[in-house]
Amino acid sequence: MKNDWSNSVAKQFISKYKKLGFAEEIALRVYTTQLLGKNNNLVLHGGGNTSVKTVIKDIDGENHNVLCVKGSGWDMADIEPEGLPAVKLDPLLSLKNKKYITDENMVNFQKRNLINTKSPNPSVETFLHAFLPFKYVDHTHADAVLNVTNRPNGLNFCKKIFRDNVGIVPYVMPGFLLAKKVHEIYSKNQDVNCLILMNHGIFTFGSTAKESYDLMIKYVSQAERAIKKLKIKKVKQIVNFSTKYNSHEISPIIRGLLTEKKTDQKFIVNYRLNEHIKYFMNGKDVKTYSSKGTITPDHVIRVKPFPLIISPKKSSSLSDFQQIAEKEIKSFRKKYLSYFNQNKLKVKEEKTMLDTSPRIVFVQNIGMFSIGTNFKAAKIAGDLAEANAKVISSVEETSKYQTIAKKDIFDIEYWSLEQAKINKEKKLLEGNVVVVTGSSGTIGFETYKMFKNNGAEVVLLDNNLSKLRQIQSNIDDLCIHCDVRNKKSVKNAFNLICKEFGGVDILISNAGSASEGTIGEVNDKVLRQSFEDNFFSHQNCAAEAVKIMMKQKHNGCLLFNISKQSVNPGKNFGPYGLPKAALLSLCKQYALDYGAYGIRSNGVNADRIKSGLMNNKMIKARAQARSVSTNDYMKGNLLLDEVKGEDVAKAFFHLAISKKTTGAVLTVDGGNIAASLR
Ligand code: ZN
Repeated sequence: MKNDWSNSVAKQFISKYKKLGFAEEIALRVYTTQLLGKNNNLVLHGGGNTSVKTVIKDIDGENHNVLCVKGSGWDMADIEPEGLPAVKLDPLLSLKNKKYITDENMVNFQKRNLINTKSPNPSVETFLHAFLPFKYVDHTHADAVLNVTNRPNGLNFCKKIFRDNVGIVPYVMPGFLLAKKVHEIYSKNQDVNCLILMNHGIFTFGSTAKESYDLMIKYVSQAERAIKKLKIKKVKQIVNFSTKYNSHEISPIIRGLLTEKKTDQKFIVNYRLNEHIKYFMNGKDVKTYSSKGTITPDHVIRVKPFPLIISPKKSSSLSDFQQIAEKEIKSFRKKYLSYFNQNKLKVKEEKTMLDTSPRIVFVQNIGMFSIGTNFKAAKIAGDLAEANAKVISSVEETSKYQTIAKKDIFDIEYWSLEQAKINKEKKLLEGNVVVVTGSSGTIGFETYKMFKNNGAEVVLLDNNLSKLRQIQSNIDDLCIHCDVRNKKSVKNAFNLICKEFGGVDILISNAGSASEGTIGEVNDKVLRQSFEDNFFSHQNCAAEAVKIMMKQKHNGCLLFNISKQSVNPGKNFGPYGLPKAALLSLCKQYALDYGAYGIRSNGVNADRIKSGLMNNKMIKARAQARSVSTNDYMKGNLLLDEVKGEDVAKAFFHLAISKKTTGAVLTVDGGNIAASLR
């Protein structure tokens, strides 16, 4: 493993943090924590932790020995000093001889001794860091270390690899008891500068940040070299075959089967495939080695104790897949239930079962689908599953993969301190996939913000590439260049959405154009083009979205940006109003044809919103057509108030969450009796 320490970068950290008022020892703690965190072969997503022991002057002028240790919710890759809360060290050390304290007492005690009460909760390994008498302590879940520990003769193998200066710690659940165990082992041999925690990870320590970091790289490299020396026998693979479907076609089926219908709990299903995943999932013995448990215990909260493996038949059709997936997901739920029932009997406290949906589904010969309550969780699950796949395959090439007992995995999965890491308050639309067309415009972008703020995963579609690129440079959400008038372009966009998110729940069909002309004189070309822009474009998107919703077999919502023109035409505005009137019918038709499947269809009749479509030039022309000033034109409504993009966004949102409303049109025009529905 490459040592990434750089003296010049270390100096940059020192001067950067000096300006922010932090001492050199904190700056270097931040530097090496980030170095470790950025190396995917050492830690992933919130795994691992580090600490530094120092002295802090409190506001009363008193100096305190403190332990600055990684706080919960922080990632090592982008840690900042605030992510290393300072806990008074002497009280922590005073518990060294305690036999046992409860988790609740441990967390309470750590919190009570924070210098800043607003700091994040210190790591569950705080006591372990405190008991090791070194200024710097580093902890990772290095792949190579897990590779050498997670095998039948792991303990002896480690003794052979690491020799005298390394202590080997048998598996103990993280928390106070592990801290005690580590302390006990260290006390027996104070020459050690590294501890290998069987089936869990590695600790290194030293008097400087560099020393502790160097030791981490040194010992992980030793493990890597030891693995390379072993005789390799490739994992036997199943015969490659083809099926009659693609990943984007089965993703909505999987997603639909996972939905908890009673609670409307939806999941995000993210697809990926690469050589590591292929090698792992197409292994002949995959059902055996994949069900043994995660490579390090805390992964379980993201990927569950075992994945689901689906083996489709050669040349099977989509409906074959539907059948087999249904059967397999049912049996996964049963398997999880029996794992829960067996293990809950072995623990004292009452446990409530988590949902029974898998977090990782491997479909042999197709790829991996990682699942989460939101996109971020699904991605994290995927990253962890991939790391697991790599390590497990590598162990299987040289031995048989082995890890801790299911009961130990259960203890971590149902540990309140682990669950606290992922149980955040659920937002109203969490787990929903929302697609907004015409997203770079005023209404489209306001709508994106509205749904995003309510927890949905929002995909932005637009035909204006430069505008879309500009938006994409500011946000992480998926932006897709799409011409909604072109069926192929729409299909490609929705296929990509299915690969990334697993399906679609809400379509906000918003894109359109505005053209004027006196109806008896207007060129047919203009009229036909407007029908393409303002009617067929909506039909293209709605038809594609409905196809996916039908596969998910669990509700869905179409929302159309219609226009008050659909019921109250404007003079010389026929080319725009006519397709909008047809769009109103389209909206109702979808409500009628798909209501029985739980798919709703509603629209918004907005009027006079200043936007790219209704630009200053257009406003001037429309004001002239009505013989009023532009200002009066914009406020020409019953409320005498200008209507804005955000008002339309609110209407879309309202219709999206009104679960018993379909075939409805909501007016957002500040009040216009002539345009009011009757
Ligand atoms: Zn750990």
